[in-house]
Order: sequence, then structure tokens, then C-alpha cells
Amino acid sequence: MRGVVYLDLMQKLSILGEAARYDVSCASSGSVRGKHAALGNGPSLGNAAPSGICHSWSDDGRCISLLKVLMTNLCEYNCSYCINRKDNDNPKAAFTPEELAALTMEFYKRNYIEGLFLSSGVVKSPDHTMGLMIETLTLLRRKYCFNGYIHVKTIPGASPEAVMAIGYLADRVSANIEFCTDASLKLLAPAKELGSILSPMALIRDRREESRDNFMHSVHSPRFVPGGQSTQVIVGAANERDYHILNMSERLYKNYSLKRVYYSAYIPVNTHPNLPAITSAPPILREHRLYQADFLLRFYRFTAQELLDKDNQDLDFEVDPKCDWALRNYERFPVEVNKADYDTLLRVPGIGTLSAKRIIAARRMSRLGFEDLKKIGVILKRAVYFILCDGRFHAPYDLEPDMLRGVLADKQGKLMASPLQMRIEDLNVLRV
Ligand code: SF4
Repeated sequence: MRGVVYLDLMQKLSILGEAARYDVSCASSGSVRGKHAALGNGPSLGNAAPSGICHSWSDDGRCISLLKVLMTNLCEYNCSYCINRKDNDNPKAAFTPEELAALTMEFYKRNYIEGLFLSSGVVKSPDHTMGLMIETLTLLRRKYCFNGYIHVKTIPGASPEAVMAIGYLADRVSANIEFCTDASLKLLAPAKELGSILSPMALIRDRREESRDNFMHSVHSPRFVPGGQSTQVIVGAANERDYHILNMSERLYKNYSLKRVYYSAYIPVNTHPNLPAITSAPPILREHRLYQADFLLRFYRFTAQELLDKDNQDLDFEVDPKCDWALRNYERFPVEVNKADYDTLLRVPGIGTLSAKRIIAARRMSRLGFEDLKKIGVILKRAVYFILCDGRFHAPYDLEPDMLRGVLADKQGKLMASPLQMRIEDLNVLRV
């Protein structure tokens, strides 16, 4: 392979850890910390990024550290947005399955990591690449008896057999969809097709259901992708609106039972006529708003159509998507907190799932007063404009929606609207 023969393991790790940082489908990347003046110029401890260590969150909310690397950053494909594309002349490296399995175990034993996130460029063919990843996971699971968390990214175009094999070894699998349409893929990732990304998703969905049924009958039956599947969408590289992205996410959650869709603000690393200019800042605020809207789809019973439509195709930068919806539907407010049902309470800005449940529970005992809402956890500076409490409107002003939009404008949104305020490393804070 080109340029990989003389590298030692740590050089490979440095190249392949760095090459993996653009994939956000396992949540955040490691933080990058410059030297602190107080430490002088000597070596310092604890900087996880060069070794490719990132953090993810388990279902029970625990933060787990993962070794996030590529099997190789050599790639036969030429996706125009990707740092690892075939035509780029960046340093290349490749692990052998034994090297990567041994390295993961070494890091695990030293308590650096609790699991592995593994992705790869495409070498020779999708199935050949998947074969290398399967071999690595087999070594980890069988030879080293590693029972920790493993998240694997499937290679587009891999055979169903390869997807099945990896699904029995990994906890979570993601097939990155990258864009909403075949047209965008053709333009920016010509070797990929939507069908070849969606079919493994369907396979994983079906096999997971079967595996869950089998598990009900015998706890010894092998588990298939027990942590569920996820995907990643690149935001801002193709000419796709938030309306298209959110509708696609909704379909993925409904039709493919996805656990998560991750949104990755496009970071310009290549020049290409089909891409935004390399000087343009990553659309961080847009990514942030998409995460907020995604949260509303998953936990607040909103539909994509309610949040955006053909006349209103992009999420508002000034206020968060729930506030924006409430302001566009202002005639539905104010709602009486002592009477409104759970679904109605969920739609009030400043009332979350937990506070809505607490309101329902507390008002069984007695009528709620305005002061009680603060104790319950309602964010009153927002909610106050949308609620009545015991028939009284407590807001300092009764404003028209346009004026209210200014009052409710998100400070974080205002700050982030200025790209100069945001460094690429800050992306990590927002992705958690
Ligand atoms: S397949 Fe495309 S996105 Fe993936 S590593 Fe290769 S060039 Fe990059």
C-alpha cells in the first residue's frame, strides 16, 4: 500500500485518529488543548485528541471514552468533501487487524478507553474493507475476550453477509447517509448511492427485530447490533434545505428505527467546484438548530411538517425551533397549566418532558400557582409568555409575536450567528 510500510504504531495512530475526527456519528471528538503557560514547554498529560480518543454517551447517560480511528485512510473513492479522498496527497496509513486489536486492548488495560469507534476508507472493495474490520472485531471479541462497547461504520456497497457478520460483533452500527438525495450524492460522492446505504439499514432493522424476538425465547441467543443503528448527515455541503434534512431524518426514524441521526456541519477541507468555498465557516448554528429540531421529533411528538414546510424551508437562527413553532402558532396560546394535557404542555417553550410530567403529577394534589412552576423546573422567562396560571397571565408585557421573537432571541444563537466567535474545536461542545 502507498506510503504505509515504514510507519510505527504511534505514527499510524496519529494519522488514523486525526483522519477519523470528521465522522461525528459517535458523538463528540476529543478536545484539543494548547499548552498552559503555567506548565512551561515540557510534556503535558491528558490531551486525548492526538490519540483519537473521543467521548460518547451510553443509553443510561454514562459518558464513555472511545478510541476513534480508521482502519485505513487509504480510499478508492473520491468524495469531494472528504479529507481522505483518493486524490488528496495527505499522509496515508493502515492498521492490520492484529495491530488495531492489540492497540485497543492496550489502551483499554491502561484505562484510557472503554470502547472502540471504527470506520475506514475503502481499500480494494467494500467487502475487502469490511473483512478487515470483521477480522479486527473477531480478534477483540474472541482472542482478547473484549466485552466493551464497539461502534462500527459500515462501508457503502458492502454485501449483506458482511453487514450481518459485523452486526453480531458490534454494539452499534452506522451507515452514513451523508446527503438527502441521490442527486447530491452523485454530485459530491459519485461512488455512493442512496440505495446502497439504505439497504444495510433495512437489513439491520429486520435482523435486530428477529434477534430481539429470539432473545425473548432464549437469553443465550446472539444479540445483533444491541445498541441500535445511527447515521450522519453532512450539513451545508450540498444545496439541501433544513426542510429536506428534517423530513429525511423523520423517515429514517420511522422506517428504519434509527437511534440517532447526527448532523455534521460541513468543514471545508478540499477545493472542488461543487463545494462551498474553502474560506466559508462551518454552519455551526445550523447544525445546532437541526439537533434541537431532531430532539423535538424524537421526544416532543413534533412532526417535520409542523416545524418546516415548503414556504418556510430553513430553521430560524434567532430562536430555537420550539419557540419558532409557538410564535408561528401564537393563537394556540396562552394555555392554562392547571388544565392543559401533556401534549399541549410539551409544546410550551420553557416546559420540557420532565417538567410537563411533574406538572401533571403535582396538579393531582392541588392547583398550581405561578411560584410552584419555578420549583417544578419550568423555565419561566420563556414559558411566561405562553401560559396562564390559575387564569392569570404573568408576563411583564403582552407582545405581538414579532416583538416577542426579539425578546426570546436565543443569546447562544446570537453569539453563534457570528462565525468568528466559533472555533472548529468548539463543535465538540455542541455535539454532546
Ligand atoms: S468513501 Fe468517501 S467519505 Fe469515505 S473515506 Fe472514502 S472518500 Fe472519504
